[in-house]
Amino acid sequence: MQAHTRNYVEAQKASVDDFWSTVLFNLKEEFGVNTFNSWFAPLSFLEIQDNILRITAPTQFIRECVINNYLHKIKQIAAQIDPRIKVIDLRVKANSATIATPTVAQEKKVYTNDNDTSSIKVEAYESSNLTSSLDSRYTFDNFIVGPSNKLALSAAQAVAEGRKNGIHNVIVIYGTVGLGKTHLLQAVADYINATQPNRSAAYLSAEKFMHQYILSLKNNSSLGFREHLRSLDVLLIDDLQFICGKSSTQQEFANTFNALVESGKTVVISCDRTPYQLELDMRTKSRLAGGLVTEIKAADLALRYEILKNKAQNLNLDLTKDVLEFVSQSVTSSVRELEGALNNLAHHAFNSGIELNLRNTKEILKDCILAHEVVVSIPTIIDTVAKYYEVTTKEILSKSREPRFVLPRQVAAYISKQLTDKSLKDIGHALGKRDHATVIYSIKKLEERLSVDTSINEDIAKIQDSLGMLPKL
Ligand code: ADP
Ligand code: MG
Repeated sequence: MQAHTRNYVEAQKASVDDFWSTVLFNLKEEFGVNTFNSWFAPLSFLEIQDNILRITAPTQFIRECVINNYLHKIKQIAAQIDPRIKVIDLRVKANSATIATPTVAQEKKVYTNDNDTSSIKVEAYESSNLTSSLDSRYTFDNFIVGPSNKLALSAAQAVAEGRKNGIHNVIVIYGTVGLGKTHLLQAVADYINATQPNRSAAYLSAEKFMHQYILSLKNNSSLGFREHLRSLDVLLIDDLQFICGKSSTQQEFANTFNALVESGKTVVISCDRTPYQLELDMRTKSRLAGGLVTEIKAADLALRYEILKNKAQNLNLDLTKDVLEFVSQSVTSSVRELEGALNNLAHHAFNSGIELNLRNTKEILKDCILAHEVVVSIPTIIDTVAKYYEVTTKEILSKSREPRFVLPRQVAAYISKQLTDKSLKDIGHALGKRDHATVIYSIKKLEERLSVDTSINEDIAKIQDSLGMLPKL
């Protein structure tokens, strides 16, 4: 009875933001990220009043498309979260001044439940709702090991096989995006589910944890939610940073986490920073930090090469050694980007039958490599130009009008304009405190020379190459 009352109070506290973000989350799950970004992300929540959910679209076009294709689904999802919703009012957003945004009082009203708290029933929690679906490609067999992920892999394998990680039953795998955290966590859940019927494991993203928790409060099934999680042998929560700082969800996570750890169960967490950098209460933080904490670092060239080769084979895409080398050398930021590049190549090979030789590969990947990989600073450009023309950086920055310094100075200005988004004023400043008119003049002079002297074009291509740019095709 006390627990029911607490549910009710917690439910009342849930804000309008939680409601709308839960609707959006479900729409994203249902329709995928592309449809979501095109049609649902632009919608704005206004209010819920008299059984009407009012939302706005930024344009008539989006409004009509949503009404024709998705309105029934939005209504169904919204009504699941708040059964009072019977009608959806979708209008084109008027000037912001004419739209009444919900007041604090209205926000509170949204989740006011008219029932007597004593009549609220705790419904059984539907456990199949809980877990995030697993990607069948994310298995240990498909995970390629290298120095940057070796420790994380062995910790994950130990959990999967039920071996003790020393004294640890808390594992934290952290690292920036696209390095294989989700892959490893899902591999653990997949392995346990497939091979050990007497052990139960659940993988869920922290985002899903939050939305399921909020939903369970609305459905009065939060006790079931808790019990289900606490009955697991292994709980895997991905991207924990997502719920940090969101007070009630974070507290719910901390309670679940502590209950599992205290009863000797295993919890595996992934996040994008160290446990101490997470916004959590000290007790949970220090428990996490006291676990087996391993970082996945960026993959080195050899690992990128192997991953690419493996993923190409899985796609039945025959890539030559020079293409594999080029792609793994050029795409360095994350394995996810590497995979993006590979999918791009596969798309061209399978849809236009194009032969994936080195030249075509460079052409296909030109934009994504330029967009993602090259971040050069003006000082780096000046140093590289100086080295190429065998002068010193100081000489390029000097006031000297000697031709052997003027050309490198013009080339440095020209490349800086092409490869950075700095203003001409910034470029001038970095090039020996020159004003922006001087930079314009330098670039103009160089362009005149380029049209008559092709050797300077070659110089520029070589300099771009040593800056890590694609060599000219
Ligand atoms: P994160 O969760 O760290 O952001 P993901 O696990 O989503 O990264 O990995 C991004 C992509 O890169 C996934 O498709 C994953 O399969 C792949 N990947 C990352 N590391 C490896 C690896 N060592 N071997 C094979 N694939 C990998
Ligand atoms: Mg991930």
